[in-house]
Amino acid sequence: MKTFNVNIVTPDGPVVDTNVELVSAKAQSGELGIMAGHVPMVAPLQIGAVRLVTDGKQSELVAISGGFLEVRPDQVTILAQAAEKAENIDVARAKEAQQRAEQLLQSKQQENIDFKRAELALKRAINRVNVYEGKL
Ligand code: ATP
Repeated sequence: MKTFNVNIVTPDGPVVDTNVELVSAKAQSGELGIMAGHVPMVAPLQIGAVRLVTDGKQSELVAISGGFLEVRPDQVTILAQAAEKAENIDVARAKEAQQRAEQLLQSKQQENIDFKRAELALKRAINRVNVYEGKL
């Protein structure tokens, strides 16, 4: 199958730079599957998993904390706020972040809580746990 280059870049530096047959990502509009020859486009991404496929098999699962995906001829670039390959996820840290966010959202002092921020922290944490466990 035809391959193309995929780059995942964060403010901390590059996380992925490899050749793949398929990239699947969670765009705001729904699940996207990109293969070689896809029309050029830009799409905002949700907090979710990016799956890379090489030689017909999943070669990498990456947790993405929102950002943009750009398709150009023979090149896909994902610019993300944060991105971690499954094997680099500190799952204990993610579970702690999940607990913190859940406690905040259930807290009695509701007026002092930035709900949007806590919900996003919870989504990032759950996504990291899922990606670590190999779930999409
Ligand atoms: P925490 O509360 O644990 O810091 P967070 O969701 O607020 O989690 P971010 O602001 O999204 O963290 O990320 C800050 C940096 O830490 C990024 O470089 C991100 O890749 C990294 N990071 C966050 N959580 C983890 C994790 N569980 N394992 C590995 N790297 C992580």
